[in-house]
Amino acid sequence: MNPESINRRQLFVAAGTLAATSALSANAQTPAPTQPRAAPKPDEGKPLAPKDRVGIAIVGIGAYASQQIIPSFAETKYCRLAGFVTGDAAKGRDFANRFGVAEANVFGYDQMAELANRPDIDAVYIITPNGLHREHTEAAAKAGKHVLCEKPIATSPQDAEAMIKACADAKRLLMMGYRCQYEPYNLRAIEICRSGRLGRLVSMTSEHSRTADPSDPRDTWRLNKKLAGGGSLPDIGIYSLNAMRYLTGEEPTEIQASISSPPGDPRFKEVEATVHFTLRFPSGVLANCQSSYDTADVKRGQVFGTDAILTLDPLSDYYRHNLSVSSKPKGSETPVEEKILIPEKNQFALQLDHFAQCVRTGQTPRSPGEEGLRDVRYIEGIYRAAREGKPVKVNG
Ligand code: NAD
Repeated sequence: MNPESINRRQLFVAAGTLAATSALSANAQTPAPTQPRAAPKPDEGKPLAPKDRVGIAIVGIGAYASQQIIPSFAETKYCRLAGFVTGDAAKGRDFANRFGVAEANVFGYDQMAELANRPDIDAVYIITPNGLHREHTEAAAKAGKHVLCEKPIATSPQDAEAMIKACADAKRLLMMGYRCQYEPYNLRAIEICRSGRLGRLVSMTSEHSRTADPSDPRDTWRLNKKLAGGGSLPDIGIYSLNAMRYLTGEEPTEIQASISSPPGDPRFKEVEATVHFTLRFPSGVLANCQSSYDTADVKRGQVFGTDAILTLDPLSDYYRHNLSVSSKPKGSETPVEEKILIPEKNQFALQLDHFAQCVRTGQTPRSPGEEGLRDVRYIEGIYRAAREGKPVKVNG
């Protein structure tokens, strides 16, 4: 079949899926797409003048905000860094001066209502601990601002539903910061999975692990159940979960899982260290995933098809992705690995620009709040499957 005709057919299906997704009400069950989602298309627009760009205030100036997101504004085409919301006013003023933002646009977390009086701030990007995403999203929506929110959307499906409702009631956009869905190597991997080049997809694996360090302030809240929502699973296992969904373009229907933490390790008093989970997809694909806070670093994904195997290693790093497809040529006993080289692009800027374009045009984002809600529902399913020690059906 001509690959172009595949894309057009799938684009049509995706339009239907998006319509169904945006029709989700706060209490509705997650709808099941019947066909894989289409591979997204890159944006090719020209940069806008600063006055025409979407003004975004950063909520929470921690490690991810200060090291990745804030510097990436310089590489965006449609975004303007417009303010800071922080618990540390001096840090806020310092960032304002360093990045050309008016000091008047620095707010405390308890001053978010005042955002309503700042027409030069159109939206906020929430980069605070997971357990605070709901209150910061609700405050921003109430102040009339669009919201880009870091993963996981929240620490429970109920909080995620409330966030979707708050933004819908305020007629504001809610998009998830699922940066991998904007990153060129991941986009190429989606395209390859949809193109038929791997043959029929049969199984997948993905591992996301690192060593949690309680002396690092970034990990202090990550080991606290109330602020993090769980351990390695909602923090980094979510990359595997989300990738299995965007690579197949399907929603899982059944989950099996096991959890393990080293006995007596004070890091894991409240949250888990290691989770293994298997997702079953409607096409029959089985995805086997691992997340851990207790091993050396890994951020990998593989897709096993009847004709070839795709490897993304790393899958979810900030830079330097590796993508390859290996298969045995007809009549040969030796697999050949093709390394796919494409220009690296700043995925943070690409994600920010997609958000800004959605704010400007009213288009539904590629990773709307509902996408985050699905993941926290599956996370809840993974914990339940591990607790009950048997497979659980999920409403994918
Ligand atoms: P961090 O600890 O470095 O930053 C958290 C910020 O929130 C800090 O500025 C801190 O002062 C502030 N904060 C406000 N209230 C707080 C409280 N009660 N306890 C602790 N901190 C509080 O964490 P981070 O690594 O920047 O993560 C922040 C968010 O970004 C999380 O949701 C995380 O999952 C997400 N994140 C996403 C990526 C990604 O690649 N998409 C990477 C890292 C972090």
